[in-house]
Amino acid sequence: MIRPIIVANWKMNKNTQEAISFFKEFCTDPTVSSGQVSCIVCPATTLLHTAASYADTPNLSIGGQNLNEKEKGAFTGEISGTMLRDAGCKFVLVGHSERRHLYRESSDLVAKKAFAAAHANLIPIVCVGETLVDRQGNKTFQVIRTQLNALFNEAPFLASFIVAYEPVWAIGTGQVATPEQAQEVHAFIRQLLVERLGEKGRLISLLYGGSVTPENAKSLLTQPDIEGALVGGASLQAASFLQIIHEGARLC
Ligand code: PEP
Repeated sequence: MIRPIIVANWKMNKNTQEAISFFKEFCTDPTVSSGQVSCIVCPATTLLHTAASYADTPNLSIGGQNLNEKEKGAFTGEISGTMLRDAGCKFVLVGHSERRHLYRESSDLVAKKAFAAAHANLIPIVCVGETLVDRQGNKTFQVIRTQLNALFNEAPFLASFIVAYEPVWAIGTGQVATPEQAQEVHAFIRQLLVERLGEKGRLISLLYGGSVTPENAKSLLTQPDIEGALVGGASLQAASFLQIIHEGARLC
């Protein structure tokens, strides 16, 4: 297996003291600096500078949770890719289901954000996934295809990107996709990437997200097309996030 990528999405959680406690525990774990796993932590914007002060830990990178598609200007409350880069980020989440559903972000906007990220020298982690209604209506592949099609128009301009499959019904619900369900969609995404991007499509890392825990991480990460995980709730405590990292490291 290639080196797994394990991403923490802290969402709107933690103050500075809590972030420092996390990093103090996390960064001293020998597995983190061992190089077996690539670790990315995406904290809230107010914590980026604190997080970036730990980014000299080998194999730890910092990511933003969202960015504006514009480079700068009169967009009160927004943050640009260059600002994230300036704050020490190397990655940024785009199209997280909470952004798509709560803030009505369309696939076209998500694609623009991915382009803006690349323009700012950030690697976008593009999230896609179906709702429960989509899955029950046998529309999973159709939804994923539509979400990715918008991105393919920008893909020639993206030096590098990551795709995270996050079924909406599995995010924060404790209802994880079975390894077989996740693998099936990952294989479909891989096929789409190769169809649209040729050999480059094989090099795009595919992550699974949705109620990943230390208990289920191994069964997901051992699937042939799952190359890492995007973790919400279980990334908030260093101990549980480290257990997931350890599971990833054992597979190398
Ligand atoms: C997420 O926020 O991307 C996520 C997958 O959350 P959770 O792990 O809590 O389901």
